[in-house]
Amino acid sequence: DHLVNQIAAGEVVERPASALKEMLENSLDAAASKITVDLAQGGIKLIRVTDNGNGIAADDLPLALDRHATSKIASLDDLESVSTLGFRGEGLASVASVSRLTLTSRPHDAEHAHQIIAIDGTLHPVEPAAHPAGTSVEVVDLYFNTPARRKFLKSDNTEYAHCAATFERIALAHPQVEFTLRHNGKVVWRLPQQTVAERVGALLGKDFVEAALPLDTQAAGLGLTGFVASPTYSKASRDAQYFFVNGRFVRDKTAQHALRQAYRDVLHHERHPAYALFFTLDPAGVDVNVHPTKIEVRFRESQAIHQFLFHSVHRALAGTTAGASPA
Ligand code: ADP
Ligand code: MG
Repeated sequence: DHLVNQIAAGEVVERPASALKEMLENSLDAAASKITVDLAQGGIKLIRVTDNGNGIAADDLPLALDRHATSKIASLDDLESVSTLGFRGEGLASVASVSRLTLTSRPHDAEHAHQIIAIDGTLHPVEPAAHPAGTSVEVVDLYFNTPARRKFLKSDNTEYAHCAATFERIALAHPQVEFTLRHNGKVVWRLPQQTVAERVGALLGKDFVEAALPLDTQAAGLGLTGFVASPTYSKASRDAQYFFVNGRFVRDKTAQHALRQAYRDVLHHERHPAYALFFTLDPAGVDVNVHPTKIEVRFRESQAIHQFLFHSVHRALAGTTAGASPA
């Protein structure tokens, strides 16, 4: 069983950034309005996420680290089917099976906090602890018990870059939440509660957002808001292509193609536009479990969505060049 946990963990916890993503999503699920992330050595040595969310009752602490779906994995052969089912209810258990994990939590109505420690996937008894209302999850020495996995980790710098990207994507999609990121004790990001425009400016740069074209289109249950680089914005300071589907960062071919086509159509040249776009649709219209790490999605009506995205962005871009002659 422990082996199954570790192997499944390898699928869901590819690297420190995947553990961080699970932890941040849990904090958001718990309705946190303030989230602090501490990393050491690219997250390999330490990932600590502290939130002021709903917390976990003492009795529920062991359950939070339990693999709810254990019965689904009868043998190693079934691991493949597990990876297509997604990993609901298994994020924290997976991380715990390949690290030294400490979960400390205090619900708002509890007198004090409690803590549970899992080492190598083995749970220790719940103990009283000191912690403000909310939850801290501390993950130390990722893959210390699976050296073969650990060998696949890249340098601290590379793993840190993945963690920072994960943090930035999530922070971008939740401007109403206050976020802090520290690496090796140094503050990298301190983001107060902000408007969408302020958060985009903080993360993508003021020069981007000041020159960007705002979008706000709704049609037939589809919605698109956010910012696309204006035709005059010649160079993104860095790789700045953020596309969110119902609040989750994804990399999607349909969207990328629609955007590129809109830019080419209006501006008559090929380039990689910078954008931060938030696309919403009925959750039934999108399959988020194409891949366990959920960065890809599959749209049921990809044709209609391509058209919607193309026309929305096209209209925003064309508005700024109306009357101008083609370059
Ligand atoms: P899932 O998020 O899919 O339910 P996880 O393994 O990520 O599964 O988390 C297990 C459970 O632990 C969650 O359902 C939640 O009840 C609890 N939990 C984890 N992190 C937090 C948190 N930061 N705040 C409150 N509850 C949490
Ligand atoms: Mg989770």
